[in-house]
Amino acid sequence: MVSCGMQTAQLNPAWMVSKNFKVSEVACKHCGKNGMQPEFVRLLQRFRDYLGAPVVITSGYRCELHPVEVAKKGRVGRHRMGLAVDIHSPGMSLKELYEKIEKFGSFLGVGVSVEGGFIHCDKRESKARWKYKDSKDVYWDGDWQSL
Ligand SMILES: [Zn+2]
Ligand SMILES: [Zn+2]
Repeated sequence: MVSCGMQTAQLNPAWMVSKNFKVSEVACKHCGKNGMQPEFVRLLQRFRDYLGAPVVITSGYRCELHPVEVAKKGRVGRHRMGLAVDIHSPGMSLKELYEKIEKFGSFLGVGVSVEGGFIHCDKRESKARWKYKDSKDVYWDGDWQSL
């Protein structure tokens, strides 16, 4: 017997995955599948509480068929692992948001896209900072002046 009621319920985009985030905000923008890992949702909510301001997720979980993932030709990044978000905060400069992210200190992977107007935050084992240049990741020392 096949039971899919639970799965269907989990896909309801209006449901909250945490205090401030809906399923639709963290799920794949291409198909609505939510593969975000609960531990990362908890981390994201902790950051939201710390920031005390709205956090807009421009990209959350990405399935293997999401155009950005397809373009990676099999390279599995943290969005696909359900361990990353690209964010901005309305009314806050990207620099200010970056400073808050660094003070918060729990996102070890941080990438800044001034052009795209977002900051990528992820969970990983060791600290990494980068900027996006021509849609490629380029090492960055974390000094805002050198962006
Ligand atoms: Zn998808
Ligand atoms: Zn990202």
